[in-house]
Amino acid sequence: MQMIKNYINGELIEPISGTYSNNYNPSTGKVYSLIPDSDEKDVELAVKAAETAFPSWSVTPKEERSRILLKLVSLIERDLHKLALAESTDNGKPVKLATLVDIPRAASNFHFFATGILHDSTEAHLMEDKVINYTIRQPIGVVGCISPWNLPLYLFTWKIAPAIAAGCCVVAKPSEVTPMTAYLFSELCIEAGLPKGVLNIVHGFGHKVGSAITAHPKIPAISFTGGTATGAQIAKVAAPMFKKLSLELGGKNPNIIFADCDFENALKTTIQSSFANQGQICLCGSRIFVERPIYEKFRDAFVEKTKKLVVGNPKDEKSNLGAVVSEAHMNKVLSYIELAKEEGGKILAGGHRIILDGDLSEGWYIAPTIIEGLSFDCRTNQEEIFGPVVTIMPFDTEEEVLAYANSTQYGLAATVWTENLTRAHRVAGKLQSGIVWINCWLLRDLRTPFGGMKNSGVGREGGFEALHFFTEAKNVCIKIA
Ligand code: NAD
Repeated sequence: MQMIKNYINGELIEPISGTYSNNYNPSTGKVYSLIPDSDEKDVELAVKAAETAFPSWSVTPKEERSRILLKLVSLIERDLHKLALAESTDNGKPVKLATLVDIPRAASNFHFFATGILHDSTEAHLMEDKVINYTIRQPIGVVGCISPWNLPLYLFTWKIAPAIAAGCCVVAKPSEVTPMTAYLFSELCIEAGLPKGVLNIVHGFGHKVGSAITAHPKIPAISFTGGTATGAQIAKVAAPMFKKLSLELGGKNPNIIFADCDFENALKTTIQSSFANQGQICLCGSRIFVERPIYEKFRDAFVEKTKKLVVGNPKDEKSNLGAVVSEAHMNKVLSYIELAKEEGGKILAGGHRIILDGDLSEGWYIAPTIIEGLSFDCRTNQEEIFGPVVTIMPFDTEEEVLAYANSTQYGLAATVWTENLTRAHRVAGKLQSGIVWINCWLLRDLRTPFGGMKNSGVGREGGFEALHFFTEAKNVCIKIA
């Protein structure tokens, strides 16, 4: 059985306690590797390594930092199929999705920030004749990066790439539910010649490793992606220590479909935005609002297409959906389907676990589920489910659908389908959402700000905002006599 190791000070090492926990393959429900059950002692080692590396890494010329990061890009690309298979085995997602999206995006994250640092600039402000201000941005020091299980290597690299590119040294913790690709990535860091201590990966549970990173006095900035409740816990610890915080949290995204939309395009894309990655993307639309004149036509076509989706072996090219990430998560999603029924919802498609044959019979599969007949403010429509479950509801007016869309505590992403550009622009302006897609979904330009309003987060990732998060701005004011 494969033993995952921590990556500290440039070496792959065992946790100090010598203890491990089980790592499951969601497609079979069986343990297939062991993950270090690290604790605050391992975090301490990692912080020391990062502190030692920082003075040199922070002044390493950008061209040199860029060169090493670009080497990592080519190694990720070289290992595309190995990494995609590992991601699929660890997470349950179709290997096809990992090959087309997760792993290429991990390479793009590094490419983007490796080249971004070469093009960043600082401001200068002239005051009258003889006073010049210029602003410098210095890497903040040792930073903590904590990531979730839904897009494991994709979201892990989305944090560590800008941190390292900016000249920081990192203590990182991938999700304990999906540690494998971060482990394989640590092997690539060694091969790429990343100086020891620049990146340290400590595997283990959130309440041990994550909280030790959050509370560590030598870590002045935390970049976190995960659930809203965890984000609140991190903020509670980090805020009184005046740490810089970037929090990317939960969502309950609306998908608004007006009667004048391009019907086929809206239908096809809504299938993807509902069920891609088993609905476990923070940007998936889980509340579908359809304008009444096309409600029945859209609903029926959507149900028909959903029933044709294949839930199966993630390794099979024909599978549209694989397994959800864990047994606990499967049970949580199924409990929300029961709640929806209690709240008066009618199941139009799915609504149950799927048991596959043979080796996969204990895997954690859920049929893509559509629920009708719920009010916008019931628990099913207010709480994050994060699985292959969507609700569908009709609406009559723009004001009404905006009130529905904005009614949750979340504000991460929204999708609007209309051929009326004026309306699209107006609705986009009124949605309480950090990201609005008009007539598309998941189109990502890495230069744009990424993040949520309300309880979906604090701060933005992406573009120079991400690089700047890992720096302190310092203004230097010079008076020339
Ligand atoms: P989670 O909050 O349970 O865990 C996220 C990470 O935090 C894991 O590495 C975990 O070990 C760690 N952690 C747990 N408790 C901690 C603590 N007390 N202190 C420090 N770290 C701790 O989230 P999850 O279940 O892994 O991921 C699913 C959630 O992530 C969903 O809510 C989803 O919406 C959200 N998400 C948000 C975005 C975004 O960009 N906004 C992207 C992906 C996922």
